Formats: sequence, structure tokens, C-alpha cells
Amino acid sequence: MKVLLAGGAGFIGSHLCERLLGQNDEVVCVDDLSSGRMENLTKAIGRSGFSFVAHDVTEELPDLGAVDIVMNLASPASPRDYMDHPIKTLEVGSLGTKRLLDYARKVQARFLLTSTSEVYGDPSVHPQVETYWGNVNPVGPRAVYDEAKRYAEAITFSYAREFDLEVRVARIFNTYGPRIRPTDGRVVSNFICQALANKDLTIYGDGSQTRSLCYVHDQVEGLIALSSSSYSGPVNIGNPDEITVSDLAQLIIKLVGSSSGLKYVDLPQDDPTRRCPNIELAVRELGWKPKTTLQDGLSRTIDWIRQELGSS
Ligand code: UDP
Repeated sequence: MKVLLAGGAGFIGSHLCERLLGQNDEVVCVDDLSSGRMENLTKAIGRSGFSFVAHDVTEELPDLGAVDIVMNLASPASPRDYMDHPIKTLEVGSLGTKRLLDYARKVQARFLLTSTSEVYGDPSVHPQVETYWGNVNPVGPRAVYDEAKRYAEAITFSYAREFDLEVRVARIFNTYGPRIRPTDGRVVSNFICQALANKDLTIYGDGSQTRSLCYVHDQVEGLIALSSSSYSGPVNIGNPDEITVSDLAQLIIKLVGSSSGLKYVDLPQDDPTRRCPNIELAVRELGWKPKTTLQDGLSRTIDWIRQELGSS
């Protein structure tokens, strides 16, 4: 198989690159390196079948030849990143997705969109099922990401209906692991960096909000299973092991062996109160479920961040 992987230098994208190369696929990795990093591709560069094209997907795509599947992972995904780049985030999800859909249509490839649990907003249905339409504030600061991804889903299914394009849509829930940027502002990277420095962990709000964290290798296996499945509706890919932000802080302090305390600061606007995927559909249709425990995944992430910061 030949794969056009947009966002392939990013956190999840770079792991997916290696996974695809490992099954002898050819990978054309397209990334503008805005949140992706060339260091993430160290293990991919030089392998046969891998090529890299520096390109912003909101600009017209160069001719990259025929491919069997276009995978769209291009987007800022950390709240800090997308709120720092609101208009760009909207453009990447809308125009960027359209350009990649047009490319897939031109070369008659399958199209995989990575969407997000943020399409459910601050959910009133728990755990979240794919049939739930969500509760998104369309004018709040998170809307730039949430609505961009909702638009991306809408246009993807429109291409499927209008042009018979074969599409797959993953709704990715909070993912963590090696190569998460230590400074990207997300909860796992913030807490690990703070714990390693023996600084207080910053709890936004009272810490009772929940998230369900999926280890990156499990996430990648889910995306691979979805890309080759025959199921064409949106599928949640995440780990249903739900934890409060407070409990996550305590767990990270324990795993790092840190002397950090906790510091309570304001909860950002529209921060979802609880989030947990219902993954029955993925289990049934893809034969996939996550395998990595939170403790194991966090330990590996701590090791990686420790090495990355040179603070071992
Ligand atoms: N959070 C926190 N402290 C931090 C960073 C995040 O308490 O230093 C909280 C945040 O308010 C949210 C959860 O952790 O409730 C997950 O935030 P993250 O930015 O990782 O991703 P989100 O799930 O909000 O997209």
C-alpha cells in the first residue's frame, strides 16, 4: 500500500508512519512542521518507502502520485496550540481537509479522517457513543477546533455521498505517550514536567473533571484497524479507563517519585466536565481494544520526557 500521511511528523502521525513502514507500506509524509517535528521522524527517515514533503495542507497540494489511502492527521490538537492559532486551526480542518479529500478523489484513494472526542463538546451523554451529536459552544474559544473537526466530518461524509469516496472517520480521545511535546500544555505533559521539576502540579478548576487516556501505540493500532476495516461511520478510538484530573495528578506524582504539591487555578472556559469513550463499536467492528494500562503508559511517557528534558 502507498499512504499519503498528512500530519505525519506529529505526535500520533510519526508513530503511525513507523507502524505503516513496519508493514512494508510506502509512506509519503506531508507536514508543515507547525506542531510536528523532524526529530519525530528520526526512525522513519532513510527507511525504504519513506519520503517527506514539507507542505501546509491549506495550500494546493503538489503532485504526490497515486496513493491507496490518504490519512488526514494534520491539525493542532492541544488546546493551547489551537487557541494560540484559532484561524489557522479552522482553515486546516476545513480547507485542509477539503484539499486532501480532493486529492483522494483524484487518485481514487480511500480517505481516513482523524476527528476528535471534542465533537461531543461538554457531553450530556456519558460515556460518549458515536450516535450522540454533542454539546459544543459554537462561539467559545474551543470552537475553533471542535467546529473545524465537525466541519471536517461533515465534508468527509458529503464526499462519500456525492462522489462515492470510501471514507473512514476516527474520533480520537485524549492520547499520550512518547513524543508528546513537553511544552504543548496538555495535562499529561504539564503534570509530568511539573512533577520532574518538583513544582506544584497545576490543577485547572477543582480537578473533578474526568478524561480517559489512550496510550499512543494503542491509538495507532486502532487507526490501522479502522483504515483497513469495512465500517464507514465514525468510530471512537480511545481507552475507556476514566480518571479525574486530581487522581491523575496524584498518580503522576507517585510514579515520578516527586515531592510536588498541587496548585489550583481557574478552569478554562468550556472545559468538558467528563469524557469517556464508549468503544463497543470499535470492539465489534474493528476487533480492537486498547491494551496498555495507564500506569504502564505513564511510566513510559515519564521515561521519555525525562530523557527529552535531559533531567534524568
Ligand atoms: N488540565 C489541568 N492542568 C493542566 C492542563 C490541563 O488541570 O496543567 C486539565 C484541563 O482543564 C482538562 C484536562 O486537564 O480538564 C485535559 O486537558 P488537556 O489540555 O490535556 O486536553 P483536553 O482534554 O481538554 O482537550
